[in-house]
Order: sequence, then C-alpha cells, then structure tokens
Amino acid sequence: MEQKKKYYVGIDLGGTFIKGGIVDEAGEIVYSDKVPTETEKGGERVAMNIAVLADTLMDAMHLTKDDVVGLGMGVPGMIDSKAGNVIFAGNLQWKDFHIAEKVSTLMGGMKVKIANDANVAALGEAKFGAAKGCENMVMITLGTGVGAGIIAEGMLLEGNKSAGAELGHSVIVMDGEQCSCGRKGCFEAYSSATALIRDTRRAMEAHRDSDMWEIGSLDEVTGKTAFDYKDADPYAKEVVDHYLKHLACGLANVANIFRPEIILLGGGVCAQGNNLVKPLQKLLDKEIFAGELGPKVKIRIAELGNSAGLLGAAALLM
Ligand SMILES: [Zn+2]
Repeated sequence: MEQKKKYYVGIDLGGTFIKGGIVDEAGEIVYSDKVPTETEKGGERVAMNIAVLADTLMDAMHLTKDDVVGLGMGVPGMIDSKAGNVIFAGNLQWKDFHIAEKVSTLMGGMKVKIANDANVAALGEAKFGAAKGCENMVMITLGTGVGAGIIAEGMLLEGNKSAGAELGHSVIVMDGEQCSCGRKGCFEAYSSATALIRDTRRAMEAHRDSDMWEIGSLDEVTGKTAFDYKDADPYAKEVVDHYLKHLACGLANVANIFRPEIILLGGGVCAQGNNLVKPLQKLLDKEIFAGELGPKVKIRIAELGNSAGLLGAAALLM
C-alpha cells in the first residue's frame, strides 16, 4: 500500500505581508500565496488572516487537515517557541501574545509551532538549502546588523526562553567602535553593511583624491562601493581589507565556539560572492584553532533567498 504523502503549512509572518506555502516532505513549495498582515487591526485579526490563508492554500491543493502534519511559522521578534508565545515583536506591535494557540484554535486544533524568523531561515537552509545535510551550522546575516541562527545536532539552538544567541554583539575589539547595543567593539560594529558603509564614507572624507568620489556624494555610498573600486583605488582596497579582516575574526570566533561544518553567510553584502568567500576562507583557515589539523569549517553563501522562511517554518514540524 502506498504511504500517504505528508504536507506542511509554512508561514512567514512579516509586518506588511503574511506569506504562506504548502511544503512537501522533500522541501518543495508546491503552492504559495500571500495576504496583507493588517497589523494595524490587531493580533486577533492577524491570527484570523493567517488561518484563512492556510485554509486557502490547503483548499487550492485539495488537502484536508488529515493530509497536513501542522503549521509552522517564522515570526520577527523575541519568541518563546516552546510556549508558542511572542514575547515582543516591534513590527507587529505585540507583547506577550500567544499566537500559536490562537491560530491552532482557528484551525480546529491543528499543531502549530513558531520560532524567530532569522532562526527559521537558518533551519530552512540547514534542511533544504546551502547547508543541506549539515548537523552543525551557523548562519550569519550581514545586513543593517549582524544576525545569527545556530543549528546544533540538527536542532535550532535557541537558549533560555528561546531568546536566541546574539553573536553580532560579541566584542572583537576592546574599546572599539560604538555599537548600537551600547557596548563598544562588537562584531556587528565592524561587519554589518552599516559598518562597511560608515568606513567607506570615512575613507572618502579622509581622501578627497579617492576614485570612490566618482559616485557623486557620501549619500550615494552603499555596501557595494568599496568592493566596486577595490582593484583601482588603494583607499577602497584598504576599506575592503579592513572589513574582511574583522569579519574573519568574528567568524573564527564562531568557528572556535561551535565548530560547525558550515558557516553560511546571508544578507546584502553576500552579493559579492567569491570576492567575499575566497579571502574569508583563507583568513579563517589560518586563524581557526588547530588550523589544517582540525575539521575544516566551510564558508558558503545562503541560497534559498525568500523561500528560506517558508521552508524553515515547515521544517519546525519535521
Ligand atoms: Zn553590540
């Protein structure tokens, strides 16, 4: 007798849109759709919107509740995943909101699991993306800040009350650059896109003869600027080298603490591809404890993009 196929509902809850998908056991998103979150109408309305979207997705695939293992959801904010509670979510204006229970009730008692959205994306990459098959993996997102999701022995490592690790706020330079968290010298204060932009602007201000001024003004600086000019302009190269050196230092700390199989990089800066990965791998191989004698920690770039949220949400139930 053919075994019945299992499906999962994955939900990526954002402040503006709720994205949802039906995911199969192999990690294929077989159907997806999105609806406005309607945050301003309050949490009960958002819970209703999630349930209606989930029903719509299941109807479209002619699935009944018996065909679906459960509903997993990534939520932006501080999440107590074991209790299914949103402790705090600024974008959604929620405090102490038991969203999992509410959605479960609306879905006739369906199993509902939630977790922080960055952690969910890391889980998606570990199950189905660039770190597929990895039991131990750390995903570092280089954006406005530096975020992290940790998979240890195949499970999300979330810490007490699943508050999550803040690897971006480990200090790599004592008394260094001011960080948004209040400390000085954090990994994030050197390795975020924000830090890269700050350092590029500083270099331009200090060197009026820099080729980087071709972009027009300091307002035009992005995380790409220094990388674009690094081969022609020594000041740009200096910015990139400084950035890579500090990023590699932070990654070596991550590698020494967790000894993952893969460190996955996500976020806008990753558009640099091999310009980023190759020099970082070289620096990491040199700095990691035991060097060539220890197991290699590979640096790779995340590959699922926007799908990571839906796949990771489904993976919460796998
Ligand atoms: Zn900090």
